[in-house]
Amino acid sequence: MAEKTFYEKIMEKMLKRAFFYPSCEIYGGFSGFYDYGSTGTRIKRKWEDFWRRFFLGLEESFYEIQPAEVMPEPVFEASGHLKEFVDPLVQCSKCGYYERADTIMEEQLHETFEGITPKELDRLIKEHGIKCPKCGGKLKEVTVLNLMFNFDVGIFHSVTKGYLRPETAQGSYVCFKREYKANREKLPLGLAVVGKAFRNEISPRQGLFRMREFTQAELQIFFDPDKINEHPMFPEVKDRVLRVVPASEREKGEQMLSCEQLVQKGYPEFAVYYMARVQEFYERLGVPLDRFRFYEKNEEERAFYNKLHFDVEIFLESFGKYTEVAGFHYRGDHDLKGHQKVSGEDMSVLKEGKRFIPHVLELSFGVDRNFFTLMDLGYREEGKRQWFSLPAFVAPWTAGVYPLVKKDGLDKKAREVQRMLAEEGVDCFYDEKGSIGKRYARADEIGVAYGITIDYQTLEDDTVTVRERDSTQQERVSISELAEKLRTF
Ligand SMILES: [Zn+2]
Repeated sequence: MAEKTFYEKIMEKMLKRAFFYPSCEIYGGFSGFYDYGSTGTRIKRKWEDFWRRFFLGLEESFYEIQPAEVMPEPVFEASGHLKEFVDPLVQCSKCGYYERADTIMEEQLHETFEGITPKELDRLIKEHGIKCPKCGGKLKEVTVLNLMFNFDVGIFHSVTKGYLRPETAQGSYVCFKREYKANREKLPLGLAVVGKAFRNEISPRQGLFRMREFTQAELQIFFDPDKINEHPMFPEVKDRVLRVVPASEREKGEQMLSCEQLVQKGYPEFAVYYMARVQEFYERLGVPLDRFRFYEKNEEERAFYNKLHFDVEIFLESFGKYTEVAGFHYRGDHDLKGHQKVSGEDMSVLKEGKRFIPHVLELSFGVDRNFFTLMDLGYREEGKRQWFSLPAFVAPWTAGVYPLVKKDGLDKKAREVQRMLAEEGVDCFYDEKGSIGKRYARADEIGVAYGITIDYQTLEDDTVTVRERDSTQQERVSISELAEKLRTF
């Protein structure tokens, strides 16, 4: 039997221990949909909480909102999604097989064709004589398919068309006016949304990387475009070194450039400041810098309204390549202007005697991708031992509490310790089943950061052993100091 690939190995672990699994599995699954299980839900929620603490903590004027997931058609007329949010689709004239046109090209020519227009793809298919990969039949002309789910909202004469939002960002744009006023008309104003988005992908695949229902964490920063070359906190980050592939110097590969150097190269200070924060976010999550990069898209590759576009990429062992986990976009006034035009509402603000439409800097994170990234980076094996090395603050549990044996009052004491820790805000569970070694191994497998064992000495001097997951080192700690030691933030 062939040896399992890295991807297969971690997928197997995650399925077995309920990180996530295909949705509606008992009905054979539902392509492009996944359920987070009892382990995964905890990790995902902790990642989201960390994201909130980190990004909302950057400025006092950054807030989280929860806009509706279903929105009416004019929203997507304004955003351009009705027209532009399409994938090129090609179908076989003989067997009916269909696939994304760029995917078929990629598979047969081993090059990237993402972002190429349908017309151009059509020409390339003819030029290269690309045939149906299933039956060798002739391919029909490339058409486009809008990726938004839509349906009727209401009944009878009051039916309107509703759309499941394809990104969370639009919610922040349509709320901008009200939030700006409610929050003392301050700029920059940050509106963050952590929530679901939906896309009817033609061929969902790669597990959590192309889903039809997924979670995003997006922060829209509205600011005065005249202040793009300044940020009051810039001195704090100016010497930090970022790992960047500038579009104009792609042949040089990843470069280590200080924030100050990036500004000298012409990148706006306001944007560079937030790039530094994005990299810091990933460093705090334990991502090694040599597997992280900002990959800049050039003018042909990025959307026409983006003045600046970096993909935030991490090298994943599972795919053997840098993979996009977040996006960093300077969108100009495209969004508010579009909504102003279609809604008729004035989106401008009056500040310091000047009337203008704020510009938007967008930090957009695919939560599911980031979740998977934690596991890809965290997987460890040593002989028979396999585990996920996760930072304690995103581990499903900070600690497991174990009586050495479930008798002589050790179990009772262990339950007491577990309850005490829970009350002190430490995320921990109690487990008395099986040998202590097996209990450690089970907890390691899902990335639990610490194991706390109550033994006979505990009954004498109120100390316990604390075992650290990665090193398996144990130390004796007094119960009164335990919560302090284990609290992750
Ligand atoms: Zn065919």
